[in-house]
Amino acid sequence: MNEIVREVKVLPTYYDGTKFRSRLEARWAIFFDYLRIPYRYEYEGFDLDGVWYVPDFYLPKQDYWIEVKPVSPSEKEQDKCERLAKATETSTYCFWDIPRPWDGSDDGPAYAWRSEWYFNWDNCHNFIQCHNCGAIRIEYYEHSYWYCNHCDSEADNEAKQLKIAYEVARRFRFDNFKIAESGRIINEN
Ligand SMILES: [Zn+2]
Repeated sequence: MNEIVREVKVLPTYYDGTKFRSRLEARWAIFFDYLRIPYRYEYEGFDLDGVWYVPDFYLPKQDYWIEVKPVSPSEKEQDKCERLAKATETSTYCFWDIPRPWDGSDDGPAYAWRSEWYFNWDNCHNFIQCHNCGAIRIEYYEHSYWYCNHCDSEADNEAKQLKIAYEVARRFRFDNFKIAESGRIINEN
């Protein structure tokens, strides 16, 4: 894994009252915020057989751990995700790069340890959203659409809100935003 690339990209970033270790993590926070997905940043640490690990995000509504990396995870990083998923019996997803929709390739944008039936490691996971109720979850890309767990309507990875959230997260300018009296973030870009 190219450690130099990682060094360059790590820029602590303040956003919404939280200091994120990297701008990349802050962009993911913006992605979650736009979609009104509650998240907890560096919520809890775990001793995984002697390896101390604090996952980047916990999404309480979906019950996911989300790890964010600049580039696709190394074997060591994949191993940590696996240990976390098994120790906490919680699906763990490792996204890399800026928030972006799945582009149809076999590589990315997320690897996952999923716990629905048993734990297994798989690539090519992406966020999907229900067209009717807006519920969001992560699924393997093998279908072009899915059904919502809540209302049984169609859900897919190209829902309009999802597309906008990717755009907003990618284009957000951290040096140029104000906090309104209401507490809302106003980006003047
Ligand atoms: Zn729904």
